[in-house]
Amino acid sequence: RQQIKQNILMAGAIRTILPQRSPDAHKGINGRLAVVAGSRGLSGAAAMTAEAALRAGAGLITLATPASIQNVVAVKLTEVMTTALSETATGGMSQDAVAEIAALAAKNDVLAIGPGIGRHEATVAAVRAAITTVECPLVIDADALYALAGYTDLLTECTALPVLTPHPGEMGLLTGLSAQEVNSDRVTIARQAAGEWGSIVILKGAHTIVAFPDGEVYINTTGNVGMATGGTGDALTGIIAAMIAQGMSSHDAALAGVYIHGLAGDIAAQAGMVGMAATDLIKAVPAALYGIKN
Ligand code: AMP
Ligand code: MG
Repeated sequence: RQQIKQNILMAGAIRTILPQRSPDAHKGINGRLAVVAGSRGLSGAAAMTAEAALRAGAGLITLATPASIQNVVAVKLTEVMTTALSETATGGMSQDAVAEIAALAAKNDVLAIGPGIGRHEATVAAVRAAITTVECPLVIDADALYALAGYTDLLTECTALPVLTPHPGEMGLLTGLSAQEVNSDRVTIARQAAGEWGSIVILKGAHTIVAFPDGEVYINTTGNVGMATGGTGDALTGIIAAMIAQGMSSHDAALAGVYIHGLAGDIAAQAGMVGMAATDLIKAVPAALYGIKN
């Protein structure tokens, strides 16, 4: 087997790529970010993605959800703006949402899509259309990855290098492998996918892999088993999008986002790993960012 150069993601490298905040910055400078997430019964995924983006420093965040859960997320999130998407009878976004997403994307620096959107066929069709319509950088996660299974060619139509954040099960859907097969050769599989799809592929799990289309590969060193609980992946999506919003390249945002997300998990775990919640990790993101800079 070919020897692949594997870089180890460490604090020193992350410190140099995180954006420096000018003392006279205003919210507009810290970036505008849109999240397309949630469906009936999955409002928490949407709220956590947006909240994580807020805690990672994005200036202005708009969360777009199917209309019937807009008020639910609005009550959960004080600082985040909300907007409604056209929906199916079962409360997932419908194909009419594509134009709404395109309009939203035009007003934002980055768009995160996928957490909690569900797998209704109209939602799947909307995701496929949105990915080829939207012109800002995309962070693609969860059920938006499900929508891409068999359709990864669509990624070549993206105007900016997309960031994909599959867990081993989602990577299996995209590659036709089982999660177990994915985990048996994580570096090779992530690297090959990044090359084939022309995307940044973040293969999550203990020691997350970040793979780039040119073959560059990083292995993360932060994080812990307390993160094996619902919602932590949604937080990663929000954090990476927030870093892109603040002006980082998708390349640097992927590396810094993965490292900071794990570090926030490590900080949250100091209060106890068992029973740690994704919202604990999200609340620890500012401390992770502060800790790495100071
Ligand atoms: P998701 O499955 O989409 O909710 O994402 C789970 C998140 O938690 C990913 O960022 C994983 O890397 C992280 N995670 C899950 N299990 C572990 C583990 N055993 N050690 C470290 N990180 C983990
Ligand atoms: Mg997930």
